[in-house]
Amino acid sequence: MVTVNHDYLDLQGSYLFSTIAKKVAAYQTEHPEAKIIRMGIGDVTQPLVPAVIEALHKAVDEQSSMETFHGYAPDLGYTFLREKIVAHDYEARGAHVELDEVFISDGAKGDVANIQEIFGRDNKVAVGDPVYPVYVDSNVMSGRTGTYNAETETWSDLTYLSATSENDFIPSLPTTHVDLIYLCYPNNPTGTTLTKEALQEWVDYANKEDAVIIYDSAYEAFITEEEIPHSIYEIEGARTCAIEVRSFSKTAGFTGLRLGYMVVPKELVREGVALRDLWARRHGTKFNGAPYIVSRAGEAVYSEEGKKQVKEQIAYYLRNAKTIREYLTEAGYEVFGGVNAPYVWAKTPKGMTSWAFFDFLLEEKNIVVTPGSGFGPSGEGYVRFSAFGNYESVQEAMQRITK
Ligand code: PLP
Repeated sequence: MVTVNHDYLDLQGSYLFSTIAKKVAAYQTEHPEAKIIRMGIGDVTQPLVPAVIEALHKAVDEQSSMETFHGYAPDLGYTFLREKIVAHDYEARGAHVELDEVFISDGAKGDVANIQEIFGRDNKVAVGDPVYPVYVDSNVMSGRTGTYNAETETWSDLTYLSATSENDFIPSLPTTHVDLIYLCYPNNPTGTTLTKEALQEWVDYANKEDAVIIYDSAYEAFITEEEIPHSIYEIEGARTCAIEVRSFSKTAGFTGLRLGYMVVPKELVREGVALRDLWARRHGTKFNGAPYIVSRAGEAVYSEEGKKQVKEQIAYYLRNAKTIREYLTEAGYEVFGGVNAPYVWAKTPKGMTSWAFFDFLLEEKNIVVTPGSGFGPSGEGYVRFSAFGNYESVQEAMQRITK
């Protein structure tokens, strides 16, 4: 008899965004006249920039001729793209990353979910709280999280690194040993960041404890404040304890194209094994490469024109974030994030849970946000506003809230 993977059966409920979608659909059916403004899901809305479109067209044409056709990509991804990544994302910021430490992928979601495969099942896992739900769910699927407590909405074998307004969104170091630490900065959902000094503490901790940090910086392009690190490799000692995951999704609107990368430094060795080699083996076995066309589009993001255009697009979303921050503050809400990230994290009115405030905003203001509790127990009492909409809708939504 075929058995199923019982670890999958431990997964909790339906995915946050499908629950939201169901609630919104039910409300819209009951109130067909309602003009709902969606500030929930973190997908981009602006079209791809001209430099990317041009590169796509050119690459498509190349595929039509025998001389310039490309089939399977090289194992680690195309060198032309990896060279740009090393030069622009790392060398330009004084961080050391080598060409054969960069693995091109089809996006950060797969990378952050799959990386746990190269680690033993008995590793103790710590996750930021609140945080992007994929880190937890991918570890549930691989049997590392223990049992679920529905009351506290926590897993027995996970360590939660709580980040709330009480600790200025800077989680404390774990009090008991952990092996794998998932950090996400700029953070989804809170939109907050860590300073170099705060991140240094984590790197020092990981090196001391022989732990590994999985650093998700999918929102790096939104950093505006000078002193905030863009990469964990800007921190001394990170090459012996950290893996970094990046994405073109939010940087350049590639959510539909699909492109990302992961850096695994050669000095990162555990049990005498170079994790870079282990990941190379996994990558070569289970992934057949990001498409040539999309890789050329990614390369265009680093051209002079591409950089300028992408920067303008990010400025557009950041203007939305600023608008959200200002209106909500004026309306008396306590807000965080939105300066170095496309998310604004707002405290719910006193005594209201995240879902109660979600319902209130949907029913009374016809605005969809994301309930903070969906990102972890410390997200309770907050909601996330996404700045990825168009400016006019953001303004209208904010006017409805302040009215
Ligand atoms: N990491 C974080 C923190 C995210 O918020 C997201 C998407 O929302 C991803 C990764 C996924 O990125 P990608 O589109 O590259 O799979």
